Amino acid sequence: MARVLIVGAGFAGVACARRLADEPRAQVTIIDRNGFHQFQPLLYQIATAELAPRDIRFDLDEMFARHANVETRTGEVVAIDPNRVSVTLADDTTIDGDVLVLGAGAQPNFFHTPGADQFTLPLYSLADALRVRGRLLELFRDAAAKPELVDDGALTFVVVGGGPTGVETAGALAEIVHDVMPHVYPHLAIAGAKVILVDLGHTVLTAFSDEAHGYAVRQLRRRGVELRLGVSVKEVAPDHVTLGDGTEIKTHLVVWGGGQMAAPVAFGSGLPQGHGGRIDVRPDLTVPGFPKVYALGDVANIPVGDGTVLPQLGSVAQQSGDWAAGNIIGDLEGTGRQPFHYKDKGIMAMIGRKAAVAEIGPHRHELNGRFAFAAWLGVHAQLLANAGAELRAFVSWLDDFYVRPAHRSAELLDPSTIDEPRIRKNA
Ligand SMILES: Cc1cc2nc3c(=O)[nH]c(=O)nc-3n(C[C@H](O)[C@H](O)[C@H](O)COP(=O)(O)OP(=O)(O)OC[C@H]3O[C@@H](n4cnc5c(N)ncnc54)[C@H](O)[C@@H]3O)c2cc1C
Repeated sequence: MARVLIVGAGFAGVACARRLADEPRAQVTIIDRNGFHQFQPLLYQIATAELAPRDIRFDLDEMFARHANVETRTGEVVAIDPNRVSVTLADDTTIDGDVLVLGAGAQPNFFHTPGADQFTLPLYSLADALRVRGRLLELFRDAAAKPELVDDGALTFVVVGGGPTGVETAGALAEIVHDVMPHVYPHLAIAGAKVILVDLGHTVLTAFSDEAHGYAVRQLRRRGVELRLGVSVKEVAPDHVTLGDGTEIKTHLVVWGGGQMAAPVAFGSGLPQGHGGRIDVRPDLTVPGFPKVYALGDVANIPVGDGTVLPQLGSVAQQSGDWAAGNIIGDLEGTGRQPFHYKDKGIMAMIGRKAAVAEIGPHRHELNGRFAFAAWLGVHAQLLANAGAELRAFVSWLDDFYVRPAHRSAELLDPSTIDEPRIRKNA
């Protein structure tokens, strides 16, 4: 019987545990600080009050209730010992295993931008997303009570980063700011509200084609997003952002989608770290020199074979988790490990209602607009269903995208509403 310790219940950790749940020769312990799996790609919809936390949060106990060989633990892993194959939790408990699987994900990389770690809000967890939502709604409430605050930047929202996270967040912010809030605060001068996207690069969604760049830029502008491209964020303060060209933007909400690096637990682990602090792995997903330690998903640099590494994507994390489990089973059976083979299904990003870009399959068949939007809905509905979601998110989307576009429930628009005690505890 092999004791498998999995750190992190993201796409990678859950996929690994799910595959091992059918393996009688493995005893699995999956540890996450939250006690639930959060569906990261939809965090921006929590932040912009499109979905409720319960729509993207999946309790680990429920997920593995029917699998006697999977134990779930809620706790912060503060240290790992790759030689002993053990982890230490914040309460000083040490858990020993025979195989260690690291799926601890990422954290924001502020690139030493002064003030960014203190005064911006990243989007990596449900707690982060709820902070953004809370701040957004409070700023509207305050501006409605004191309209002069608008001149002070109360309704100017800045998003840093023109990758998928920044673009999706900016598009969704523009919709709530310009389409939803005028109904909630009809007397507020919302014409003074702004969503500004800043990126050092000269376009957005650089991982996509030139056609997609142009489409995304047009769609964002059409939705009222102001683009400041080719300029860096020099400094962030509680009430403004200073750009590299000296421009000062008054704001009280800056969302950071400006880059990421390996989760803190990778640092000080003694494991080899490469680009972004991520743990370098061999083609079979084990760490060089540590054959009993796997690193997967966003915390790992997974080699492709041509000297590059795979991008930080949900599909990479999920497939690497499943593959690592296969290799663990291969070791138990004595058939050995296989090099990871990633099935590239493509990439997509939503810009707003009925507007998305998608590049489908390894040959990157391009779709923009309504077809890409429909593909986005289908793919995310399927992914959520696989995670164990009920129908709620789909009903919210249909309502929001097709039936009552400018409507949000009172629960979603209440800054103090957090629908589960566990999130309040961890926030
Ligand atoms: C806002 C946003 C939007 C995205 N959109 C897309 C998209 O549209 N499509 C796509 O393919 N990808 C998208 N991604 C990327 C995708 O979400 C990630 O690639 C994927 O979540 C990585 O999975 P993972 O399992 O490696 O890590 P994660 O999903 O980050 O999971 C890591 C888990 O580890 C836990 N953890 C970390 N450290 C510790 C510790 N010390 N102790 C205990 N627990 C710990 C965390 O709580 C977390 O549950 C998006 C990411 C973000 C942030």
